[in-house]
Amino acid sequence: MRALVTGGAGFLGSYLCEAMLAEGHFVVAADNLLTGRASNLAHLAREPRFELRQLDIIQPFDAGPVDFVFHFASPASPVDYMAHGVETLQVGSLGTFHALDVARRYGAKFFLASTSECYGDPLEHPQKETYWGNVNPVGPRSVYDEAKRFAEAATMAYHRYYKLDTRIVRIFNTYGPRMQLNDGRVIPNFMKQALSGQDLTVYGDGSQTRSFCYVTDEIEGILRLARSQEHQPVNIGNPNEFTVLECARRVLAVTGSNGKLRFEPLPQDDPKQRRPDISRARTLLGWEPKTDLETGLKLSLDYFRQAVAAEAG
Ligand code: UDP
Repeated sequence: MRALVTGGAGFLGSYLCEAMLAEGHFVVAADNLLTGRASNLAHLAREPRFELRQLDIIQPFDAGPVDFVFHFASPASPVDYMAHGVETLQVGSLGTFHALDVARRYGAKFFLASTSECYGDPLEHPQKETYWGNVNPVGPRSVYDEAKRFAEAATMAYHRYYKLDTRIVRIFNTYGPRMQLNDGRVIPNFMKQALSGQDLTVYGDGSQTRSFCYVTDEIEGILRLARSQEHQPVNIGNPNEFTVLECARRVLAVTGSNGKLRFEPLPQDDPKQRRPDISRARTLLGWEPKTDLETGLKLSLDYFRQAVAAEAG
């Protein structure tokens, strides 16, 4: 099989490329390297079944015949998507159409990486796939939330009108090695701060919650969904929920840091709670995450140590 992974040089995209190669497939990664990094794929440079193409999918594109299109391209951290708001809307709208068109042209299956951000600041807890969400359409996060909601609508339209064989995953907060140290997300921020002896920046009073999924668990869920026949969105995330304060304490414990907490203003529209209901993934895919937060943080420690040292050097 030949798979195209848009956003293949991103954090999650690069793990997906690796997993597809490990299954014996040919993989083309397409990325404009706005927030992705070629270095995430450097170890695959000699792999004859792999190719990285630097291209911007907001323009129509063609990467040759493919059997499966995994559409993962988008800035994904709040800091990144707010810095590149227009590009985020463009890749979610134009980029999604172009990726869908490639799948349609070659009769390929299509897989959309969507997000728990579709639920916005959720009023239903935990979040089931049937919940329609509570999104501010004109707030600072709307460039990402609405782009992904549009991408879901476009995917379902190609499925309904053109009978495209589609899948949609809603990804909840995922972490692990290869996250960019400065992408602004909570785990890289806390790890970097803890490992460089700084205070940890807790936004608001830290009572807001997130549920963190280790990257290899996330990829396993994605692969299972890709192999399934499910066209409706499926949540893939870890239902173990933590306050941001608790997350900070876990990072301090795992890093052995004696850093303190520094409280900073809560960003506008920051969701107060987030936890996936993964009944659908359990039932349809037989999937559930295996890695708890402490284990995942320990598995990420060497990477973050090296990244902090590289930045300091
Ligand atoms: N957060 C924090 N300190 C940081 C970075 C993030 O307290 O240095 C909080 C942020 O306000 C949010 C949560 O951690 O409530 C998760 O933020 P992140 O940017 O990782 O992703 P989000 O889930 O908001 O998309």
